[in-house]
Amino acid sequence: MYQNRYAFSSRILCGECGTNFRRQKIYIGKTYEKIQWCCYQHIKDSKKCSQKAIREDIIQAAFLRLWNRLASNYEEILIPIL
Ligand SMILES: [Zn+2]
Repeated sequence: MYQNRYAFSSRILCGECGTNFRRQKIYIGKTYEKIQWCCYQHIKDSKKCSQKAIREDIIQAAFLRLWNRLASNYEEILIPIL
């Protein structure tokens, strides 16, 4: 259930250790409250994985850039794959 709660749930894997990223709220209740995603291994024990948390707005921007690039170049990128 937790797996599919958010758009990025179970879809981001840590580049360092391969563990799923977890969603975290930081600065809760403050006006600058933010959502970030962090390697679960790093959350449990930062000595086991040094990957730092990434802000959700940065992930969304990167995803959108990639999506738009795919949408406007699908003939060059996707059709050869098929
Ligand atoms: Zn990790």
